[in-house]
Amino acid sequence: MAGRIIAVVNQKGGVGKTTTAVNLAASFAVSERRTLLVDLDPQANASSAYGVRAERQIYDALIGRCVIKDVTQATDLGHLELVPSGRDLYGAEIELVSAIARERRLISVLEGVRDRYAFTLIDCPPSLGLLTLNALTAADRVLVPLQCEYYALEGLASLLETVDLVKAQLNPGLEIEGILLTMADPRNRLSGQVEQEVRQHFGAKVFRTVIPRNVRLSEAPSHGKPALLYDAHSKGAQSYLQLAAELLGSATRPVSLSALAASPDASPGCTSPSFPVQPLPDGVNE
Ligand code: ATP
Ligand code: MG
Repeated sequence: MAGRIIAVVNQKGGVGKTTTAVNLAASFAVSERRTLLVDLDPQANASSAYGVRAERQIYDALIGRCVIKDVTQATDLGHLELVPSGRDLYGAEIELVSAIARERRLISVLEGVRDRYAFTLIDCPPSLGLLTLNALTAADRVLVPLQCEYYALEGLASLLETVDLVKAQLNPGLEIEGILLTMADPRNRLSGQVEQEVRQHFGAKVFRTVIPRNVRLSEAPSHGKPALLYDAHSKGAQSYLQLAAELLGSATRPVSLSALAASPDASPGCTSPSFPVQPLPDGVNE
């Protein structure tokens, strides 16, 4: 079966792209799906989240200095490999501008290895520049994390326009895998309102799984680990396992904000949701 390449994209900064790429990759790996995590952001946050600092990086493969196998590293998870990034990649955005087929560099780099993995996840930088364009050209699917806050939908229209353009001109098979609500806070009325609004607009394209705001997810990277290896029982780690299950088409128990708020070990004062919880849409990603 052909491996699926998923680009994690949102040009807005700090919405949970890297946290999603890192923890979804770990969740696929513990579900025994061979997974490749490609760090395509010069900030290299996905690399440091796995404690990786490498001499050779994705940049070297993109400019043809080596092949991707030379820059692929093992991780503490048997089924997960990582292609690290680093500051050199800042230059690629400029250096590749004059290159032939500049938006097809990543797809050619991945061509020889994609079928070795059930999933390849690409962590993108917060822009719609050439690196993200390469990711969209290489990908089968786009996963869009949206932070549950007031300006969540800002910029989404231009992101979706870009996806449409890439689909029309460069990558006809490109589809939206889903919109993922991140950093949801069941005690915050606004968070619930944003969820409601996004589900009204995008219906079945929104994952049933909602990622809660969870301190373990923000602590884990400083230990060089995904949340599953830092605190497997945390709500953060569990919610990404749930997302992986949803993507694998076997979601059994959707996580919703109300379930999180009502669970016995939820934060103090968080015993009931303070907003109406949307019924779950049918047929998401099935
Ligand atoms: P950038 O656009 O800079 O690449 P990003 O979209 O990749 O950012 P992240 O780095 O994943 O976003 O997250 C931004 C910050 O929020 C980080 O400090 C991260 O640890 C924290 N964070 C992300 N998701 C959660 C969550 N569900 N709960 C708590 N903290 C989170
Ligand atoms: Mg990031």
